Order: sequence, then C-alpha cells, then structure tokens
Amino acid sequence: MNFIDLHAQQERIREKIERNIFSVLDSGSYIMGPEVKLLESTLSEYVGEGVYGIGCSSGTDALLLALMAIGAGPGDAVYTTPFTFIATAEVISLLGATPVFVDIDPKNYNISPDALEEAIKTGMNKNGSSLKPKAIISVDLFGLPADYENISQIADQYELVLVEDAAQSFGAEYKGRKACSFGNVACTSFFPAKPLGGYGDGGMCFTKNEKIADIIRSLLVHGKGTHKYENVRIGINGRLDTIQAAILLAKFEIFDEELKLRQAVANKYCQGLSALSAVETPQVPKQCLSAWAQYSIMVEDSLIRRNLQAVLKQRNIPTAIYYPTPLHLQPAFNDLGYAKGAFVNSEAASERIFSLPMHPYLKDEEQNAIIETIKDFFQK
Ligand SMILES: *Cc1c(COP(=O)(O)O)cnc(C)c1O
Repeated sequence: MNFIDLHAQQERIREKIERNIFSVLDSGSYIMGPEVKLLESTLSEYVGEGVYGIGCSSGTDALLLALMAIGAGPGDAVYTTPFTFIATAEVISLLGATPVFVDIDPKNYNISPDALEEAIKTGMNKNGSSLKPKAIISVDLFGLPADYENISQIADQYELVLVEDAAQSFGAEYKGRKACSFGNVACTSFFPAKPLGGYGDGGMCFTKNEKIADIIRSLLVHGKGTHKYENVRIGINGRLDTIQAAILLAKFEIFDEELKLRQAVANKYCQGLSALSAVETPQVPKQCLSAWAQYSIMVEDSLIRRNLQAVLKQRNIPTAIYYPTPLHLQPAFNDLGYAKGAFVNSEAASERIFSLPMHPYLKDEEQNAIIETIKDFFQK
C-alpha cells in the first residue's frame, strides 16, 4: 500500500503529461516559456478575481520571496506556528528577521488567534525589546485553512503583513474563498507530494497587490529591472521551470476531481474512526473545505502511537509523523532560547499525532483494512 500514490494519477493522464513535456522539448523555451505564464493565469483565476500568480522555484522560495518583497529583515518579529514544516520559519531566519512562535489551536493544529494576539501584545509591552512586529505567517496545516476571519482582523489591528503559507492547502476553501487568497501574499508548493504536485520542485506566490507582484517578479530573476541586465535590487534565481509548469497544467485538469476523491477518503476515515474514543479525527470547521494534504489522527500518547504504527506496518500500511519535533525545539533554532513546555499544544500534537495513507486513488479495500486494523488495535 502507498502512503501517497503518484503512479495511479500518472497512469490516468500520462499521455497528456508526455504531450506537454514534449511540446516544451520541441519549443526550446526551457526558462520562462509560455507554459509558465499559462499556469500563472490558470491558477490565479482559480484562486480568485484580481489575483496575480507568480510561479517560482519551490514553496520555500515562494515564502522567501514574499518576505523579501515586504522587506522583512533584521530587527523584525515574524509571528508563526512551531507546528509546521521547517521552511515556514527557516526563511524568516534566513533574512535575519526573528521567528516568534505562537502555539496552535489543539482542535485544528493551526495557529491560535488568541495566542497570536497575546504574543503580539506581550512583545510590544516588553521593556527593552528591540524587535518590531512586522508580519504573521499563518500555515494551512494538512490542507485546512487557518482561522482567517480572526487572523486578518489581528493583522489589520496591529498593522502587520499577513503571509499565508498555503503549501499544503491549494484548492481548500474558507467561507467561500479559496486558499491562497488570504493575507497580503500567499505561497504554495508544487512539491510532488502536495495536493497539486509536479515532478520536481516548484511553487507560486499569489497576491492582489500589483506592487508586491512586480517586486516578486523582479526578485526571482536576480532583482531585474526593465530588462534582464539591469538589476535594481538584490534577488535570487527563483524561477519555475517551463517543464514543471507544463506538467502542472496537465495535472490541474483533474485537480478538482481529485479534491473530491480526497474528500471521499476523508469522509470514510471519519465514519470509520470517529466513534473510537481513543482516536481524535480531524475537525473541519463549518464553511471550510480541506485540501486533505494529510489525514492526521491523534492518539493518547507516544507509546500508543508507536505501537499502533508498528501494528499498521506489519499489515503493510505505511504511516508518517508530521511533525515529530515542533520548530521551537529544533536545534537550528536553539539561539531563539525556547524551552520545552513553551507551547504545550504543539508539543502534545508532536508526541501524539500521525498521518494515515491519503491520496485520491486509495482503494476501498485498502481503506477498510486501515480502519479495521485501527479498530482491532483499540478493541483488543
Ligand atoms: C512543503 C511545505 C513548504 C515548502 O515547500 P517546498 O516546495 O518543499 O519548498 C513550506 N511550508 C509548508 C507548510 C510545507 O508543507
């Protein structure tokens, strides 16, 4: 059994993918070919009216470009969650700004608006604090949009830039709006295992702000000005490959159908598992749709998790832990001075959570086996 089955998808659309790849081979436009523009317009239209999409080299670079475009740097505090992939906070430190971690809401694993406001207030009142509140990076973890009603309100009130880390949530919805439409800039990833994944690295920034869009377009080509050899700012080489754009265009044709298939898999897990008192299944708030990048469940403690994962493995059922160490306890962030106990909800999730196989092509009998194995484990 596969944790994520990219082959089943490829079999469905292999011809279309090959045609798109060969067309790039024939054209010779390997860098910034027409497929990049077409993907940008296709995806930005999908995300919402008046949205600009700017393709780039990865989800990480999308976040980096977003922070560069808003001018985050030394002396700036950027608030984010410690229960996420390293990239979310790594880019903050890379630019010399300071990640300020804020605990999650234990119900949905996304940044807690209450804790966020508390952290901003505490930071502002701290005597001698040299950090200036600059931005918030909210993460749509496992494909579920964060609480944007409250987070946007906090961003407005304290005049902070809001960046949506939508690496896992392309296609998700929050109160009738698509993921990637929140905040000042949104960033997604086309890493192969993401809901819309290519066959290599890729990402995209989304924004309604034309000025930010122009700066990002410049930054990702070495800070280009009106032409390639005029450099008006320090940038990076952060372009999306034409071949990846061509592959993603083929994959996008079946993307909405795949989202529905993911939803059906999630529904079946929920039906099968939510009656078990020893298992916490994901809660999707009303008026939200998850892109179901992961289907993650919580058990009582790390020992039960280890035993259950072992039993599933014996039956050839793969599982994964996202994320075993919250970022404030990562050695890379030692300098920030956080200790264990700083963010109890993130720490508890790291100890108790794990993810089950989730992809649009998970077979009924496979899913039945997963559900039955988990039920047996707890009913023994
Ligand atoms: C995958 C991921 C990223 C980074 O995306 P890449 O394309 O792998 O660089 C950033 N944030 C989150 C939450 C992710 O899951």
